[in-house]
Amino acid sequence: MCIQNQEIMEIIYNDVFKEHETGMHPENKKRLEAFEGLPITEIPSDDSVLSLIHHSNYINKVKDYASRGMPLDGDTHTSLASYDVAVQAANATLLASENQGFALVRPPGHHAYADRASGFCLFNNVAIAAQHQVDQGKKVLIFDFDGHLGDGTSHIFYNSDKVMYWSIHQFPAFPGHGSVDEIGKGAGEGFTVNVPLPPRSGDDIYMDALNYTLPIAKAFNPDIVAVSAGFDAHQYDLLLDLRFTVEAFYSTGKILTDNFENVFATLEGGYNVEELPKCAINFLQGINKKKKRYKEPHTESDFKVWNEYELRIDQLLTTMKKYWSI
Ligand SMILES: [Zn+2]
Repeated sequence: MCIQNQEIMEIIYNDVFKEHETGMHPENKKRLEAFEGLPITEIPSDDSVLSLIHHSNYINKVKDYASRGMPLDGDTHTSLASYDVAVQAANATLLASENQGFALVRPPGHHAYADRASGFCLFNNVAIAAQHQVDQGKKVLIFDFDGHLGDGTSHIFYNSDKVMYWSIHQFPAFPGHGSVDEIGKGAGEGFTVNVPLPPRSGDDIYMDALNYTLPIAKAFNPDIVAVSAGFDAHQYDLLLDLRFTVEAFYSTGKILTDNFENVFATLEGGYNVEELPKCAINFLQGINKKKKRYKEPHTESDFKVWNEYELRIDQLLTTMKKYWSI
């Protein structure tokens, strides 16, 4: 199926994404059931796209483990359909990259490495789509506002100057790293931008972090922006201790659309099924320059949290000034 480039970011979704069964796990099908009236898009099942990023022995391992419903690690479960569902999640994200869409998929991807699963992620959807764009000569900015570092994505492009990885996340938290001095290596030095926020950071700190690091992303001058859109930084999420509101995600969408021309997104985390649709819809409304659908009083961070954050952001900006005119 071919969708023409469009002005409006639209959701790319299929009910198949509910077929990855994880039981009583925070990353479960209820996350997508919480969205109502989603249009269905036909998604290709082409598993050759996985090899844009993943090693063939790992791809075979996922296929094998899923056929037996075996977990890939303590956090990352599979069921009979999981391999095919994960293949379609990657393809939906690839489709989003060609149509400025928002791939509303599961399983998520940003913790997955080239050769191993991690943190509920089987294949790295955003990395696959980014590599697909790099192969067409594009410079890709990956902006990851999920509350966790996308350690898989970061690792995959750590040596690349074709992809900038920009992540705002809680630290300390899973996966245990993502500090300001992880800036990339070799040709990729200066192309990894980690903005670690202290636990209890609210909307005020998030917006400050976004606005102070946006100039680095703009200096990179990407042809296309891939968004790892995770919503577990919301104040009522179960897995993290950040305090963003639905308003923060609306502003994020708006800032992206005001500063970049070609943006697509894929769903990562977000585990409060009441809040997830509100966060995602607000983000989409922001991207599409429409009115915000949901409102919530802004959250403010206390003095100690601000102090810790300011030390970190100052260090990051000092480092990044060596690489970028900001
Ligand atoms: Zn997350």
